[in-house]
Amino acid sequence: MLAEIKGLNEECGIFGIWGHEEAATLTYYGLHSLQHRGQEGAGIVVGGNGTLQFHKGLGLVTEVFSRGELERLTGMAAIGHVRYSTAGGGGYANVQPLLFRSQGGSLALAHNGNLVNADELRFRLEQQGSIFQTTSDTEVLAHLIKRSDEPILKERIKEALTHLRGAFAFLILTETEMYIALDPHGFRPLSLGRLGEAYVVASETCAFDVIGATYEREVEPGELIMINKQGVRSERFAPKVSRSICSMEYIYFARPDSNVDGINIHTARKNLGKQLAVEAPVAADVVTGVPDSSISVAIGYAEATGIPYELGLIKNRYVGRTFIQPSQALREQGVKMKLSPVRGVVAGKRVVMVDDSIVRGTTSKRIVRMLREAGATEVHVRISSPPITHPCFYGIDTSTKEELIAATHTVEEIRQLIEADSLAFLSQKGLLQAIGRPDDSPSCGQCLACFTGQYPTKIGGEYVGTFVQTSRCEY
Ligand code: SF4
Repeated sequence: MLAEIKGLNEECGIFGIWGHEEAATLTYYGLHSLQHRGQEGAGIVVGGNGTLQFHKGLGLVTEVFSRGELERLTGMAAIGHVRYSTAGGGGYANVQPLLFRSQGGSLALAHNGNLVNADELRFRLEQQGSIFQTTSDTEVLAHLIKRSDEPILKERIKEALTHLRGAFAFLILTETEMYIALDPHGFRPLSLGRLGEAYVVASETCAFDVIGATYEREVEPGELIMINKQGVRSERFAPKVSRSICSMEYIYFARPDSNVDGINIHTARKNLGKQLAVEAPVAADVVTGVPDSSISVAIGYAEATGIPYELGLIKNRYVGRTFIQPSQALREQGVKMKLSPVRGVVAGKRVVMVDDSIVRGTTSKRIVRMLREAGATEVHVRISSPPITHPCFYGIDTSTKEELIAATHTVEEIRQLIEADSLAFLSQKGLLQAIGRPDDSPSCGQCLACFTGQYPTKIGGEYVGTFVQTSRCEY
């Protein structure tokens, strides 16, 4: 997985726990296991005992919490966040959880996803007198909660959620309660678990394993869960619509040891490889995968074709983030620093190189060249997703349409540009079958918008002049 240099980035990971004396420490471990979902900032807010305390900062979880900061975060409830900055940009102010203190009580927010109507809402809220502390889309929820006329917090949150459109998995912590909400389409994964008497919630189930928690169930799209000393209550804030969980979670983002919506990621990726072998076989001597996300796919491809799987590419795990800069020149340098071919494996061989996606094409070209320079006689590229032709508005930074090579080039043109001997992408039907959702209709349960351009929600909206009326969103 070469997220930082490929131009395909997850926005966030969230973790929460209620009812444990070591809440902050367990959140630290949970966030550490979700680090792959965002490396630019991390934070923890603890509460549940009448006050909210926080620590956050720019950098990796181990960098932000390196000097005993956890020791002063005492409380039996906590929420945490790891961030990759897209919506609203980077900077300390946008590192989450966001904490809002007011006379009516304090509230902390952690958000995974992206609100597609955040600009509209922000414009309207500012017209009504709200002053924003950050440029993050997440902050609109706090203002909507604050401005709601409902008498109790739970109802204010429910009412506020009905105004949001797009992808959101929210954790909200107050001095006495924790709330968990998932958008009506369920774009982002969010699972519930137990650790003894404590309740845990996380973007991925790998965070449960690291703290010894057991998985209970998925948070339902459109569900609001409230946890306090009286126990747990679940209510709906939106009617049921068909789920649209992000396909890229299976292809690329989630860790292989996580289960997303009940489907194990390693198994799903192996099946992607097997399906790719059925759709695009080729005569070759060795199959290799671009680490980390494509290794499971390459194993599946090798199993199905009988071509041996080998570790033909090694990832250097110790490259500092300092080297990963968003300019094209440094991005290309970044590929070299992060990946090395194993000459003894690929020299003199016809190589099948399996990768999860092609975004701009520059990374694929670099890897193909690298394999040839290491002596590969042929390089056949197999991609475990359909071509990405449209941008994502739901929290994955896929670049603009103009930057997406598959939006403007045919498969043959891409093959020539990346200098591969052959190139094949997985079909959309094959993708769904491999993940275990054989229905390929719009209600298949998955978002496929970056491959099809068919977005499950309205994008943008009429934002004409002064937006005075409160408009609830259509799902
Ligand atoms: S558009 Fe693509 S990346 Fe974005 S949520 Fe949908 S499947 Fe995921």
